[in-house]
Amino acid sequence: MKKGLLLVLSGPSATGKGTVCKALLKKRPDISLSVSCTTREPRPGEIEGKSYFFKTQKEFESLIEENAFLEYANVFSNYYGTPKSFVDAAIEQGKDVLLEIDVQGALKVKEAYPKGVYMFLVPPSMDELKNRIRSRGTETAEEIEARLGKADAEMKLMHRYDYRIVNDVVDEAVCAIEAIITAEKLRVFRYEEEIRSDEI
Ligand code: 5GP
Repeated sequence: MKKGLLLVLSGPSATGKGTVCKALLKKRPDISLSVSCTTREPRPGEIEGKSYFFKTQKEFESLIEENAFLEYANVFSNYYGTPKSFVDAAIEQGKDVLLEIDVQGALKVKEAYPKGVYMFLVPPSMDELKNRIRSRGTETAEEIEARLGKADAEMKLMHRYDYRIVNDVVDEAVCAIEAIITAEKLRVFRYEEEIRSDEI
C-alpha cells in the first residue's frame, strides 16, 4: 500500500497554526490529526484525547523513558510530545497525518522523517505577530516578551523548511496547503516502485 504523507505545520507562536489547522481539517476530513501529549493544564473547552492527551509531569517522563515520542519539546515551561505509534501506524495505512507543532519539534521530526512535508507558517509581518501575541490576553507581560524573543529566533530557522505559507487570510493559507499536498503526492521519489532507472 502507498504510504501516507507526513505533513508538519509549524512556525512561531501566535502565527495562527491552530486556526489554520482547524480550517484545513474541516475542509479535508481525509487528513488525520496527530493529537499531542502535554503537561500543561487544559484550557476551558479543551477535550482530553481531542485537543491533547493531558499528562502529569511523571506520566510524561515515563513516556519519554518508553521511547513513546517521535519528538518532544519543552515549550514555555511545559512538555509537549508527538506520540510515535499513532503517526507510524497511520502513515503505514496510507493516511496523511498532520502535526501542528513548534519549531524545535518540527526540526527534530525532519531528522527522523526527511520525506515529510515541512511547512512554515509566517505572519503577514513581524508587527502583526507582535499585535497577535499582545492581544491574546492569556499571558503576562514577561511571558509576552519571552514569546516575542522566541518568535524572532524561530523566524531565522525558516530556511530549514520546504514551504513558507503566509497566514493573512486563513482560507488562502488552507488553499496553499492543499496545493502543496497535491504537488507532494505527485513527486517522483514517492513512486519508488515505478522508477526504472538505476541512477538513483
Ligand atoms: P498551546 O499550549 O498553545 O496549545 O501550544 C503551545 C505550542 O506548543 C504551540 O506552538 C504548539 O504548536 C506546540 N505544540 C503542540 N503540540 C506539540 C508537540 O507535540 N510537540 C511540539 N514540539 N510542540 C507542540
